[in-house]
Amino acid sequence: MTYRVDPTFVDELKKYGHVNIEDCFNCGNCTAICPLSTSETPFPRKNIRQAQLGLRENLLESVDPWLCYYCGECTLTCPRQAEPAEAQMAMRRWLTAQYDWTGLARKFYTSKVWEIGAVFFLAAFIVVTFVLFHGPIVTDHVALNTFAPVHLVELGDYVMLVGLSFFLLSNIFRMYLFIVRSDKSLKIPFKLYITEAWQLLYNTVTQIRYAKCDEEEGQSFWEKTRWRNHLIIVSGYGLMFTLVVVFLRWFQTDNYYPIWHPQRWLGYYATIALLFGAGDAIIGRIKKDNEMHKYSHPSDWMFPILLLLTAFTGILLHTFRYLGLPLPTYYTYVIHLAILTPMLVLEVPFGKWAHLAYRPFAIYFEAIKEKAKVLQESQTTADAYAAAD
Ligand code: SF4
Ligand code: SF4
Repeated sequence: MTYRVDPTFVDELKKYGHVNIEDCFNCGNCTAICPLSTSETPFPRKNIRQAQLGLRENLLESVDPWLCYYCGECTLTCPRQAEPAEAQMAMRRWLTAQYDWTGLARKFYTSKVWEIGAVFFLAAFIVVTFVLFHGPIVTDHVALNTFAPVHLVELGDYVMLVGLSFFLLSNIFRMYLFIVRSDKSLKIPFKLYITEAWQLLYNTVTQIRYAKCDEEEGQSFWEKTRWRNHLIIVSGYGLMFTLVVVFLRWFQTDNYYPIWHPQRWLGYYATIALLFGAGDAIIGRIKKDNEMHKYSHPSDWMFPILLLLTAFTGILLHTFRYLGLPLPTYYTYVIHLAILTPMLVLEVPFGKWAHLAYRPFAIYFEAIKEKAKVLQESQTTADAYAAAD
């Protein structure tokens, strides 16, 4: 197999993060200290070397950047301040842009004008839609479902869900082609896709590799703060997404429920989790008090800010509704959707959220490839013995 060398690749990668890999002299300290690196996946040294040499196809076929969880241990041990952890992050952004066939992810990652402009464009679209098509405005009591008929909002939800799924899944399919199908000599039995599927579900739900990259071995769940915080934000995001997309008719209601009702406490849990996760990320990036937050690409700000504003406007909306204030409820509802919509439409298939899907798929694809290689090697050995007989 031959690969093209692209001498401009490092310059291209620099658009995706604080890349300083020219200073790396390949000592391998980073790989030796990394808690997640293995002999099969010796990152970050290997893919830093590939990037230095401009071997873009090798990187495109690699899962390694997705196996890094940015603990920062490698950067702390690097004798050349080559910032290997941030290089992995830049590679993940670059890979996200390569998987995305629309080209939008590349534009959002490399241009603030595109990133911010797209958010404002979608927000304006939502506001104009409500200005033109809102239902009757009842002012003597709160009638949210008259102002914004739930069956129409639900229809919009489903259209958005189909669109998001299409873009995300088609990008994951391209990721599959790059990672799994690039090696034409590797035969993959179909049953491996089924038998390894548990990896996908297990890693999506538990993010368990994060725990191995977090603080000390033997610590409890509550002591593994980064893994714990990540799980909390993922659970809040997943719950909020399910409530506003799948159970909207139950969640967007004009009824007033007592405090113990599940409709309220599920919403409260999701809101608190989003506030906590987004607040933690923003404060960390302002304070820069750990390796993970030392460098911030514009996309690192956009997602938590949109999450924070979504949670904040959700709280305001809920408060105005329970206080019985019709106009503030309707206005806040429109603002809430104007923030929520770009947060979902832009971040899920094209932005920072996408790593939540790409990481478990990378682990799944890697497991399939490794198992297929073992099967193929044992088959080759058996064929050789049979021929010798
Ligand atoms: S990034 Fe730093 S630690 Fe890793 S191989 Fe290069 S010089 Fe060594
Ligand atoms: S940031 Fe942590 S997980 Fe990522 S390559 Fe460095 S040591 Fe390994």
